[in-house]
Amino acid sequence: MRVYNFSAGPSTLPLEVLEEAQKDFLDFAGTGMSVTEISHRDKTYEAVVREAESLVRELLNVPDDYAVIFVQGGASTQFAAVPLNLMHAGVADYIVTGNFAKKAWQEGQIYGTANKIGDSSDKTYTYIPDVDKLNYTEGADYVHITSNNTIFGTRYVKFPECKAPLVADMSSDIFSREIDVSRFGVIYTGAQKNLAPAGVTIVIAKRSLIQEPLKICPTMLKWKVQDENGSLYNTPPAFAIYMACLVLRNLKAKGGVKAMNEVDEYKAKLLYDFIDNSALYKNYVEKSCRSIMNAPFVTGSAELDAKFIAEAKKAGLVSLKGHRLVGGMRASIYNAMPVEGVKALIEFMKKFETENK
Ligand SMILES: *Cc1c(COP(=O)(O)O)cnc(C)c1O
Repeated sequence: MRVYNFSAGPSTLPLEVLEEAQKDFLDFAGTGMSVTEISHRDKTYEAVVREAESLVRELLNVPDDYAVIFVQGGASTQFAAVPLNLMHAGVADYIVTGNFAKKAWQEGQIYGTANKIGDSSDKTYTYIPDVDKLNYTEGADYVHITSNNTIFGTRYVKFPECKAPLVADMSSDIFSREIDVSRFGVIYTGAQKNLAPAGVTIVIAKRSLIQEPLKICPTMLKWKVQDENGSLYNTPPAFAIYMACLVLRNLKAKGGVKAMNEVDEYKAKLLYDFIDNSALYKNYVEKSCRSIMNAPFVTGSAELDAKFIAEAKKAGLVSLKGHRLVGGMRASIYNAMPVEGVKALIEFMKKFETENK
């Protein structure tokens, strides 16, 4: 039986896509081979990479002077790739709004001066600093942000307007809202939250910014090299790209990012409205910057939280345990979580509240 899976990542995928992949698993596009067996140089497979790229371009309206590449190593590898490709003056700004933002900032310090110009750790990352009031460093190579903070459940509603190129880790909210790509120098995203299985990371980068990676940059981390080779410099994460392609086709068929955003906003509103009106559950994030992808909540008692998680699991609502840094519960309600899944969660929460008064 399929459950409603609220995992933060790897996470739920559209059922239609899983079924399609299953159907094609032994014989991919009439080749008589599985997509996991075919050479990445085979024309039939190369067509998948090209289609995935063009779907990313179309769905996010990516300008032509931007590279769109598929790489490995997760978003965490991009924490290093960002300075290795961009840190020419040796100075960058970081806004630290959560655990991944902090890791990116720490990785930046290996390669140069990484200034922490914003930090919301004073209130356990329950808000996003006012981006208009930060002291951006004159001449910085870039400003790094994390658009959605997966663990703490916050998101930027307004992005910084800065002179330096804006670099965003969008791992947990890409394709959940429309963005103006031209406002960013670089966007990167691990796929296993809102797009595909683990194994592939997408980098969208303005080509004029990536022409001269630092001398010490490993070849595999040079975005320019990956771009010039159409993401086929070496063996790509073939299956993950194939799955990403199917999910992107599915997203397009559902009306694209704008249509998906309406559903995502609706799901998040249902859940937060219920939490705000309940006597038992609390979400501590500042309302103006609540994530529409990850909603953490607590009952106020660690014992009751544990009981909630165990009973929810028995009811077919799984992976609701909060991150170890936050505790409590977290419902990740990515694009692939149907509205019915959120409604089922709310019904369960109501019942649990009544039973545990
Ligand atoms: C999950 C996540 C990461 C880490 O991704 P990996 O693929 O495990 O390296 C980085 N940033 C954000 C915002 C995330 O949600």
